[in-house]
Amino acid sequence: MGPKLAERLARLGLETVADLAEHVPRAYLDRGEIRESFADLSAGEEGTVRCRLERIRVRPTRRRNLRVVEGVVVDAAGVREMAIWFNQQYLAKLPPGTELLLHGLRELGGGFRVARHEVGGAGIHTVGLVPEYPATEDVPSQRLRGLVDEALPLARFFPDALPARLRAAEGLSLRADALRAAHRPQTREEAETARERLAFEELLVLQLGLRRRRRQREASASAPGLGDEGELVRRYRDALPFRLTDEQEQAIAEIRRDLALTRPMQRLLQGDVGSGKTVVALYALLRAVESGFQAALMAPTETLAEQHFLTLEPICAGLGVATSLLTGSVKTGVEAAGIVVGTHALIQEGVDLGRLAVAVVDEQHRFGVEQRRALTEGRSVHVLHMTATPIPRTLAQTVYGDLDVTEIARPPADRKPVVTRWVSHERSAEAYTRLRRHLEGGRQAFVVCPLVSESEAVEARAAQEEAERLRATELRGFRVGCLHGRLRPAERRAVMDAFRRRELDVLVATTVIEVGVDLPNATIMIVQEADRFGLAQLHQLRGRVGRGGEQSYCLLVSRPKEDLTEEAQRRLQALVDTADGFALAEVDLELRGEGQLLGTRQSGLADLKFARLGRDRRLITKAREWAERLEQEDEDVLAPLGREAGRVADHRGFA
Ligand code: ADP
Ligand code: MG
Repeated sequence: MGPKLAERLARLGLETVADLAEHVPRAYLDRGEIRESFADLSAGEEGTVRCRLERIRVRPTRRRNLRVVEGVVVDAAGVREMAIWFNQQYLAKLPPGTELLLHGLRELGGGFRVARHEVGGAGIHTVGLVPEYPATEDVPSQRLRGLVDEALPLARFFPDALPARLRAAEGLSLRADALRAAHRPQTREEAETARERLAFEELLVLQLGLRRRRRQREASASAPGLGDEGELVRRYRDALPFRLTDEQEQAIAEIRRDLALTRPMQRLLQGDVGSGKTVVALYALLRAVESGFQAALMAPTETLAEQHFLTLEPICAGLGVATSLLTGSVKTGVEAAGIVVGTHALIQEGVDLGRLAVAVVDEQHRFGVEQRRALTEGRSVHVLHMTATPIPRTLAQTVYGDLDVTEIARPPADRKPVVTRWVSHERSAEAYTRLRRHLEGGRQAFVVCPLVSESEAVEARAAQEEAERLRATELRGFRVGCLHGRLRPAERRAVMDAFRRRELDVLVATTVIEVGVDLPNATIMIVQEADRFGLAQLHQLRGRVGRGGEQSYCLLVSRPKEDLTEEAQRRLQALVDTADGFALAEVDLELRGEGQLLGTRQSGLADLKFARLGRDRRLITKAREWAERLEQEDEDVLAPLGREAGRVADHRGFA
């Protein structure tokens, strides 16, 4: 193989023979069985025919960029046919007598229009179920078929890591056979069975690896056991203006048990936007403080860190706990503070957090593995990870297999689900009429600008222009502020403060308001060109309203339905239909696949080759069960799987 091809293959992630053998198809084309004669096809029918070339030529046409290649072929029954190709002049060099398999259409007016031809009789491109591979322009599926065909026989020599007992119990084939069946299935069922066999092993290795990583962590690190709740936490509970929900209490109970141990807590707190995670997080932070330690809350952006700080600071002040904010641009007395809120600046700048006992990582999926690791490495810290992009529990246990998972599945009871409407462009005037009605009633509102580009600068300019436009038109007479990622922190804080003090009626914003903004008086949101946003993102945006007892609204404005892709329509409809983040996560998974799932990139799920998390729930559960069972086994049985799992433990995993 030449260096050029090798380089092109490397771009597909294919570097070894094993990589090729494991590069399984994403779909199959059904080319049908070989017909022995053109006469077996009726006019207008497609099929594959075996034949021999008699002569071939390029027929000149009057159109300059069209070349027609005509070949006279004869099949086994002696039937002669005119085979026609477009724009493949090089075929004219095929010598007479060449054996061909032609797949194409028998034209109504005579002749056989070739869609795909194959020299020789192997039939890998033109017969039966033909694999379609994830490919690139310079290594098309067709090329990959040939390469895989050469790699496959070598698969026999790959070690089979699954213990024989497991294979027998689950009725699983050998890995080599499964690979062969995935590339060259006789039926679609056979292909799916093979994929599941490979996916199961993959998930099992992932589980074993994550469990191993967890054991290593638990063996090597310890954190201060915090004993039982003290007086500070009791005062905190008493000061809360509401009763904690059962699910919040449950989450707190789990955290309380974790904190009592010297084994460091590694818990994921999943809950939809507005489900009340912050209250639970503050509990964990205060537990550290009352035991004489420090606590930190780390957020992915300055805006979010500031928001958290503004929320926590007054509560903590009331409890006599010193807080401080630490971001790239702000730093206040960190050493003296009981609770430090900040961005990743917390872990970067040689900050002295020597007495840290509890760390909360908000929107954990926005941090890389390295950043999360830096927070815990060399320290003895209990960590609570939080995510407002909940995913189904079975998935969470795979994605975050080395964490314990706690869910707050339902928001506080006084919360009314946000009423979501989908309106088309032409009716956006009505959306603004409704928004103005809220403003006139003393409420506040958000207008989210369209996603125009990847560039923050371009986004910012668009947001400013949109704010200008709205001030002059739909929102004339109202106080309109603008929030975007290009504002300096002090400016951003000034805008947020003004909005909070109700000196602004409307915030026109980019997606920087996606997380953390918590203002119960904001009761309506308009999202412009909503079809440009992803499902999870829209759900996050929507979570900025409906945070008080008041009925809130989210109006999704888009081009007319007919102009949208089917996927965009389903996305917007799903938001109208449900306010449940877990349900939406399922829809998202179905629409986009696991590769897109937030947070999966860092945790290594992006490189699952065979598993489809949306549809392999049963396999995931089975893999977990077997992982537990196999850990009791002999080292020898586990050794081959263990080697693979070791690689997982080194490269994937969570914290
Ligand atoms: P999350 O962080 O999960 O998005 P928050 O903790 O910010 O949610 O809570 C959203 C809002 O709900 C906040 O204004 C908070 O004060 C309020 N809240 C939290 N728990 C309760 C509860 N049990 N009852 C009533 N309101 C609550
Ligand atoms: Mg929050």
